[in-house]
This record gives sequence, structure tokens and C-alpha cells, in this order.
Amino acid sequence: MEWSKEAEKAVSKVPFFVRKRVRKRVEEEAALAGAGEVTLDHVKICQQRFLNRMEEEVKGFQVETCFGPSGCPNPAVAHDDLPRKIEDLLSRRNLRSFLAEKVTGPLKLHHEFRVSISDCPNACSRPQIADIGLIEARRPNISEEPCTQCGACVETCREGAIILAGKWPVVDWGKCVSCGQCIAACPTRTLQEEKSGFRIQVGGKLGRHPRLAEELPGIYSPEETLEILGRCLDHYQKQCRHGERFGEVLDRTGKKEIINF
Ligand code: SF4
Ligand code: SF4
Ligand code: SF4
Repeated sequence: MEWSKEAEKAVSKVPFFVRKRVRKRVEEEAALAGAGEVTLDHVKICQQRFLNRMEEEVKGFQVETCFGPSGCPNPAVAHDDLPRKIEDLLSRRNLRSFLAEKVTGPLKLHHEFRVSISDCPNACSRPQIADIGLIEARRPNISEEPCTQCGACVETCREGAIILAGKWPVVDWGKCVSCGQCIAACPTRTLQEEKSGFRIQVGGKLGRHPRLAEELPGIYSPEETLEILGRCLDHYQKQCRHGERFGEVLDRTGKKEIINF
């Protein structure tokens, strides 16, 4: 559906973590009114409803994605059905009822358990401030295919993580963010994919006491990622006190239970 400029401007001021949900509601409102375009009035009606009846809008979790699936050319790898599987997993946890029992006072959107998925290390969906952040990753490996010293990998790597030493490229793993760009740039397949999947970050949040997520070591397949997410939810639902965010739970309990597998 088309949006008027005023409506777009107004919705751009909605906090990013609920903007997608608000946009959907506004479009529903416009469609219900039989309008062919979303106007500022539709936005205002929805904003008022969100503010007056926020508790009804809380579903207990949020899954945010970057613009990778909408055509951004940067994704490291394509795992199109993972967001749906994560939604299913979170739905089965009854997080709304869980939070209603734990939180003192009315439920707010910031109490929801947030999973944020970015399709490359540019991290546009801000996985570093979500309870669980996933970053698609593709780690290179140096194969036995001869290197022609063309320099394409060095030029491509924005982290300065590759140098050419002697006959072969050398990767500084401390700098590499597993974006996979060098693999795509290498014409000789000297650089090949060693593993693709997700980097997993846990415990990020904003609010009064912001906390950046911590990264678990390694790259995980979609199946392993779902398993770790399940473990994180087990731990969160077992240990959460008074509506604590996952990062606060981890500060109190440590990460042993979620990485010990
Ligand atoms: S995180 Fe990467 S793939 Fe996703 S929108 Fe940003 S640049 Fe594109
Ligand atoms: S995967 Fe990305 S960050 Fe790592 S060496 Fe290749 S281009 Fe550089
Ligand atoms: S892109 Fe491939 S062939 Fe070219 S320098 Fe790098 S590893 Fe060697």
C-alpha cells in the first residue's frame, strides 16, 4: 500500500524495535477504512491505540530482521526460513504468559524477548542490543588451489584481515568478521568456504543500564543455532526474576549452561 509523505515521516519517529509492527497495524487500519493510501490520520489513530492499550500489544517476543531478504546485495549466505522457525520456537514458549507472571505492573513492549537477525556483519538490525543476536557468517579457508597473487581478496577485505605472504594469502583471524566477501572475490578458489552459518551474540539490551551482547565462540549451522536459542530460552525462563532481561540473567548466573554442549 502507498504511504503519504506525512505518514512516512510520522512512522519514522516510532522506536525502531516496534516500527515494523506499527507499520503493519497502520496499513490494516487504512485498509479497514477502505483507503487506497496510508495517511497521517491512520498513523495517529494507531499511535493512540498503542499508547492507550500497550499491554494488549505485547506478544512476549519480537523477531527482527535486516533488509537482506528484501534485496540488499550483501548477505553472507541465505537462510530464508530461519526467522519463521525462530518465530515458531518463540511462540511455543508462551512468553507473554511467562512475562505476565514475572513482571510487576503492566507489561510493556520493552519486556519482550528480542531476537535480531542480520544477514551480514554490517549488523543493520542491531543484534548487539537484542537478547539474542544472529549474524550470518561465512568463514574462509585457504585451499590447495594455487594463488595467482592477484590481490582481489586484499582489496575486498574491509577489515584489513588478509595479507599476501610468499605464495599464499594469510588471514588474521582476530580481524576477520566472516563476511565471506574474499571467498566471492577469489577467482582461483584459493579461498574457499570453511563454514557458513551464524555468529551468535547473547544478552544485549538498551534501557537504563545498556549492555552490549557477548559473542559465543564459533559459527553455528541453522540447526545448531535453533538448539542454542532453545537452551538460552530454557535458561532465561528458569532463572529470570521480576522480568529481568536475558543479559541481566547472564550477569547473575554466567553463560555456562548455554555454551556447555
Ligand atoms: S545487515 Fe548486511 S545484508 Fe542486512 S541489510 Fe545490512 S548490509 Fe544488508
Ligand atoms: S571473510 Fe571478510 S573479514 Fe574475513 S578475511 Fe574475508 S573479506 Fe576479510
Ligand atoms: S583473490 Fe585468490 S588468487 Fe587473488 S590473491 Fe587472493 S587468494 Fe590469491
